[in-house]
Amino acid sequence: MKRIRIAIIGFGKIAADQHVPSIEGNPRLELVATSSRSGQGVGPVFTDWRILLKSVDGLEAVAITTPPSVRHEIASACIAAGLQVLMEKPPTATLSEVDDLACLAEAAGVTLFATWHARHNPAVAAAAQALAGKRIAEMRITWHEDVHKWHPGQQWIWQAGGFGVFDPGINAFSIATAIFPGSLFVRSAELSFPENAETPIAAEIEFAGEAGDGPLRCSLDWRRTEGEEWTIAVRTTDGLDLRLIDGGARLFVDGSEQAASGPGEYPDIYREFVDLIDQGRSSVDSRPLRLVADCLLAGSRRTVEPVSM
Ligand code: NAP
Repeated sequence: MKRIRIAIIGFGKIAADQHVPSIEGNPRLELVATSSRSGQGVGPVFTDWRILLKSVDGLEAVAITTPPSVRHEIASACIAAGLQVLMEKPPTATLSEVDDLACLAEAAGVTLFATWHARHNPAVAAAAQALAGKRIAEMRITWHEDVHKWHPGQQWIWQAGGFGVFDPGINAFSIATAIFPGSLFVRSAELSFPENAETPIAAEIEFAGEAGDGPLRCSLDWRRTEGEEWTIAVRTTDGLDLRLIDGGARLFVDGSEQAASGPGEYPDIYREFVDLIDQGRSSVDSRPLRLVADCLLAGSRRTVEPVSM
């Protein structure tokens, strides 16, 4: 079968670490070009994505792995060019932009895939199944990591539209919205902004949900200096104790680890992208982005010490 010719637009840490090997490992895809303004990339490398779109013969698909602030401009041009589009998380900087892209893709008849990589752990689907139809006595999300370890030298995370600690936090929200039985709402949020940044470095959030009978809390913090913790712990009213650890990679139910194996987050993202293209469908779930926006709408703000950038 002829392979789908795909380019990567925005070539930074995640493109090099995950997208290139996952595309190269998928027999249905052929990586034909990359672009970044600084000329980082593999294969034919373009410093302007507009030139890439005009120059690459037979291009059929793109993976957009830039920071979210420029996604709408790039993705809308790719949709207008008739390309199948995959976007890294968060899909866009604002809710109106992602809604607009979904409409544009539907009108153009192309696939738009707004990815949430953490959901591609089999343990997340197993957790959703275990919690389906249950009432929740307590949920505690802890997403603590060292920003300097995970985002070395990245300036965009501190600029407006850069998401700050919600850049990793939206991964937790993508899992929570996939496993929580029913809707989740932001009840309150306390956001900590370094005095030299436009985005928060930490957030303490309280959620509410129709299926929640007790506290639903979330702590996001980028100031951890030793190791990291990416855990969602849930207790149901009928006594089930569920813990998803390592960013959704491992599931413990009542203390015992559940077997869960799969191809890996990014290989599974590209498996689904090919399936969506074959079926002529899109997948755009904006609930994790909506929760971030609601934290910023409903949250109180405090200023904390400056961060080194
Ligand atoms: P990064 O290392 O800063 O890379 C971003 C890339 O986008 C850079 O190559 C940058 O290169 C390029 N870029 C920026 N503006 C551009 C524009 N206008 N046109 C074309 N290219 C542009 O960031 P990253 O960590 O890879 O993150 C990118 C996205 O992936 C984010 O949404 C992030 O949330 C997501 N993600 C990251 C990770 C991770 O572990 N890092 C994990 C999962 C998801 P130039 O400046 O040279 O253009």
